[in-house]
Amino acid sequence: MTISELVRTDGTAEVTLGQLHDQAGQVDDDLLPCRANNPELWFAESPADVENAKALCQACPVQALCLDGALERREPWGVWGGQLFLQGVVIPRKRPRGRPRKNQAAA
Ligand code: SF4
Repeated sequence: MTISELVRTDGTAEVTLGQLHDQAGQVDDDLLPCRANNPELWFAESPADVENAKALCQACPVQALCLDGALERREPWGVWGGQLFLQGVVIPRKRPRGRPRKNQAAA
């Protein structure tokens, strides 16, 4: 089974990557921020770059479809539909690399 064949357990089709590509294929590449810019920005390590990708997604004509699909597929990583995904869930922001603070309450 490929990712484009995934179907929910209730038998209804989820938004597949194929559908997203079909929708995106009808839109000029210049209007899709993740195609018009360096796509690595959407999988960046730097929190600032991730926030930049999220902001760029806001102008995307397929943003809602992209986000719905990413939620349904439980994307493991990256910015999709203007949100950052990690292990299948949306997280508010990417933490910088390094050890956590000793006193989390002070953060
Ligand atoms: S919403 Fe999806 S398709 Fe649009 S720029 Fe963001 S990641 Fe790319």
